[in-house]
Amino acid sequence: MQLSLVVPCYNEAENVANFQAAVLSAFDGCGYDYEIIFIDDGSRDATLHNLRKLHAAQKCPVKVVSFSRNFGKEAGLYAGLQHAAGEYISLIDADLQQRPEIVREMVQILDEQPEFDVVAAYQDRRGEGKVLSFFKRSFYAIINRLSDVTLQPDASDFRTFRRSVRDSILELCEYHRFSKGIFAWVGYNTKFIPYTACERAAGKTKWSFWKLVNYAIEGIIGYSTAPLRLATFLGGGAGIAAVLYLLWVIFEKLVWGIDVPGYATIIVLILFFSALQLFCIGIIGEYVGRTFEQTKLRPIYIEKEVLDYGTAEETE
Ligand code: UDP
Ligand code: MG
Repeated sequence: MQLSLVVPCYNEAENVANFQAAVLSAFDGCGYDYEIIFIDDGSRDATLHNLRKLHAAQKCPVKVVSFSRNFGKEAGLYAGLQHAAGEYISLIDADLQQRPEIVREMVQILDEQPEFDVVAAYQDRRGEGKVLSFFKRSFYAIINRLSDVTLQPDASDFRTFRRSVRDSILELCEYHRFSKGIFAWVGYNTKFIPYTACERAAGKTKWSFWKLVNYAIEGIIGYSTAPLRLATFLGGGAGIAAVLYLLWVIFEKLVWGIDVPGYATIIVLILFFSALQLFCIGIIGEYVGRTFEQTKLRPIYIEKEVLDYGTAEETE
């Protein structure tokens, strides 16, 4: 097997058949030996039903892994990598925003340029609003300052890589998965190529603004312990400010002899420092929570059913 296409699907009933058709036409006549691995991430619509039909038709080798519930795209990618048999592995969305023709280009690059292990696509033109792109830019600026790994802005998880890279990624079996960070962390020579994301063929995106914010926090907490140091700095800074203010109050009293009423000041200071303390406890809590989750050593996903192309029947 030369190439495995790993395709996470969550409520993509209308897209999966078109997706396969697009792959078939993109790879038509190129002589590549490839398989498509669909991961049904606990979809609530007819995705699994439609995937079964594709699996039964076997127009090309199709494997279907079905989860017991929705575990998220990162878990889907992990499962896909575990099942992938190809020498090259490609991660691509089911919604046809990422064209399979680009996968062919990526494969060609890996064939012709052995010095590269990964070909990653980044979006060269963003169709999104100014506010969102401002937040995204800020996120990359912050995380690249704080963490040891460097994330390429706009690089998506639309990428193709060699089997050795897949093996390395699978070794990172953390429960909270942040693939942008994982790709950067494992290293390897990566070639970035621009691509223009198409409109979603059907269905809705699963990302809302708040989901993106949470995803960004996930990335920062997962790849840096710098926020923990923030508490130390804030505490130190506040301490110094408090001493200076104390000196000023004493000075005022001695020179002008005014008894400052100071009620408002006290209230503001109490509120401010209570907030600061809660904020810092919150940061610590984020790390403790993740440590707790990881120590449970739960599986990243649970397979309910696997349809392999070797057997027409269901395994497991
Ligand atoms: N996806 C998934 N599980 C989820 C959410 C999304 O497997 O919980 C899949 C989805 O079906 C699609 C891909 O991940 O194939 C990207 O999702 P989406 O198109 O919503 O993201 P966007 O392209 O808007 O970033
Ligand atoms: Mg999409």
